[in-house]
Amino acid sequence: MDQTENIHQSPRLTPITSDWMNEVFGNKSLLKNLLATYDSPVNLLHTKPFRHNFDLYQKVFEKHNLNHQVFFARKANTCKVFAKEANAAGFGIDVASYNELKQCLELGCNPERLVLTAAIKPEKLVRLAIQNGVLMIVDNRDEFSLIQRLASELNQKARIGIRVSGFLYNGKKLYSRFGFDIDKVKDLMLQTFSNASTTDLFDFEGFQFHLDGYSIKERATALFQLIHLIDELEEYHISTGFIDMGGGLLMNYLTSKNEWKTFWNQLKQSLLGKRKPITFRNNGLGYHIKNNTIEGTPNVYPYFNETPKEKFLDQILSTKNEVGKTVASLLHEKNIELRIEPGRSLLDQCGLTITRVIHRKKDQENNWLVGLEMNRSQLFSSSEDFLVDPVYIPIHDIGKPEKPESVYFTGGYCLEGDIILKRKIELPRLPEIGNIICFVNTAGYIMHFYETRSHLYDFSANLVFHPESGEIIPDENIT
Ligand SMILES: *Cc1c(COP(=O)(O)O)cnc(C)c1O
Repeated sequence: MDQTENIHQSPRLTPITSDWMNEVFGNKSLLKNLLATYDSPVNLLHTKPFRHNFDLYQKVFEKHNLNHQVFFARKANTCKVFAKEANAAGFGIDVASYNELKQCLELGCNPERLVLTAAIKPEKLVRLAIQNGVLMIVDNRDEFSLIQRLASELNQKARIGIRVSGFLYNGKKLYSRFGFDIDKVKDLMLQTFSNASTTDLFDFEGFQFHLDGYSIKERATALFQLIHLIDELEEYHISTGFIDMGGGLLMNYLTSKNEWKTFWNQLKQSLLGKRKPITFRNNGLGYHIKNNTIEGTPNVYPYFNETPKEKFLDQILSTKNEVGKTVASLLHEKNIELRIEPGRSLLDQCGLTITRVIHRKKDQENNWLVGLEMNRSQLFSSSEDFLVDPVYIPIHDIGKPEKPESVYFTGGYCLEGDIILKRKIELPRLPEIGNIICFVNTAGYIMHFYETRSHLYDFSANLVFHPESGEIIPDENIT
């Protein structure tokens, strides 16, 4: 019988790992030194996969013969190294705050390859963008007024794109708090760009959108609607250079579809009381029980999926409209550049979070709790749980026979809820104090997005790893 199907075991979710990671797992002296020098947890970053992911996207655009630009969504990881690397490799960067923009400029990033998508744009941010000729994505009329005033004051034209939302999909509008409703954009454009006093102040370059969720059809529908709008605007001599379809391109973390299916089946079984819980206090991760049946939907990232990265992009571009034309062929015909702003997916395989075991104990329900020297904010995204098995590294060989144990990992915040992973994880044995637990593929959002410093804990160390030379450089030293 498959181990994952044994009801006494916790189902596995085996991560995809790359060569550089496997080398690190095998190098115990490196791991010991890192933790001795920088304390736990340590984030280890490597940029080679970053470039590789970028190349994968490039190839798809080239295959479809499209003018294109890839912008790395800076917010997905706080480290400077990725901004620096993106610029060096010739791709753009999507910045979303004053500090993100300022830092990119200080790192020497080409301002022409930056795009400012900040949800909130205070005056000093807009000023910095205009002064440096950075493209700004406008979200609302107040921003328009501010940009107009500052462009006039600085006597410099502002480069702008317009964020659009409210696309019609299956007869309903896709809700977003961001951007202008697509039904109102034409009027906005005619008012704004048919007036000489404003055309002197703005260079309109294109449209942008960013959709939540991971529906290929929704993205394609949004693109078709924007292309239609662009056609309409052409009649008024307003031309559009680009469509930027934002980020949210899928990434896949897991090796096995079977494990993924088994996990969800077993979770339902445990919610129905038909097996031992496989999540902390039988957390449903978005499912709950009503009248003895399962309701709700998983509130987690699709950690396993079959259309990651370049496949996701390719499928959007290959989607056909009612008359059989693909997104790509329309964009090509009309000579519209297509842009994307991936964050997470460009960081696929770029990071590890390394942490050490401080204690082991049993709770009142006879579960093993393994205390790690970290807190949940250091391994947390908007997803209900990070559904990827960590790698267990017994740092000193203790020679005891292996007896598998399933455990929960707990963290340092004084909250009942400071559980690092809600899933119960089966390890080859109960870890010893000082053993290492390594979380895989954490660079996109997981290691940084919600990291906080309660209890005055230090932020985790961010170290850039060069496997060829063995060199390790703190990200803060990158200039
Ligand atoms: C968050 C965000 C992105 C990046 O999304 P990913 O899921 O990391 O690819 C890109 N553009 C905008 C406007 C965003 O808000």
